[in-house]
Amino acid sequence: MTQTKQRPVIVTGGSRGIGAEIVRLLAARKIPVCFNYTSRLTEAQVLARELEEQGQMFCMVQADVSQPSSVLNLFEECDAKFGALGGLVNNAGFVGKASRRIDTLDIDTLRKTFDINVIGPILCAQQALKRLSTKHGGSGGRIINVSSIASRTGSPNDWVDYAASKAALNTFTLGLAREVAKEGVQVTGVAPGGVATNLHAIAGAPERIELMAQLTPLGRAAEAKEIAEVVIWALLDAPDYVTGTTIDVAGGL
Ligand code: NAP
Repeated sequence: MTQTKQRPVIVTGGSRGIGAEIVRLLAARKIPVCFNYTSRLTEAQVLARELEEQGQMFCMVQADVSQPSSVLNLFEECDAKFGALGGLVNNAGFVGKASRRIDTLDIDTLRKTFDINVIGPILCAQQALKRLSTKHGGSGGRIINVSSIASRTGSPNDWVDYAASKAALNTFTLGLAREVAKEGVQVTGVAPGGVATNLHAIAGAPERIELMAQLTPLGRAAEAKEIAEVVIWALLDAPDYVTGTTIDVAGGL
């Protein structure tokens, strides 16, 4: 697959964690990359400085994937800076506070979880399709959705709402892939197990990384780069025949 090579890629939530590793790997392959942050500007600037020092082609945009106008702005910034899009990585994700049952879940957290994890990727995919699909005059490309193995474990007593949102994302991956299969666009999911990022500490449970390590047959949590490498494979190197599926990267879980 050569279609997305050297054409720009948008990585949502690319400012830190798994997304930042995806951005670094794209930059290492000299692929222009646009990434967003939402509120943590300082962390995004650390990555931006690193890319600047390496002379990489990138743009950094403040964006909220759950807001249509914000998503449009992200894509238009990328259009303006780098021209025809090559791919999209729907990586941005949200979890509410860890270790709680569904009967204590508040409506704002529930809505935010689905807004960011389901509606966000769909809004971004709409913009991507308008640029990639041959039906819209594009020359094809790829969309990668970062899911979670929570979609099949259900995350009881922890994040059932999050798990349900990622299951919805998997179904979106399948349906979208089938819808656009003859339009030059492949859609693939990547579902990590436990990954050592700040997501857990921000959710109030930094100890979850160690807990996940104990539950994982491989005996440790993944490094963000290990997930990013699979995303890059699906985005740039996998044969076109890989579409509509979600690949587990979960150390045997
Ligand atoms: P993370 O370290 O918490 O980073 C989240 C990123 O998403 C940040 O760049 C954040 O920006 C951005 N973001 C948050 N809300 C957003 C919004 N409304 N619109 C746009 N961007 C937004 O997360 P991570 O651990 O790298 O996780 C990345 C993906 O992997 C997520 O989809 C997550 O569900 C999935 N995943 C993670 C794990 C894990 O153990 N870490 C396991 C399975 C799946 P700010 O910095 O500005 O907030």
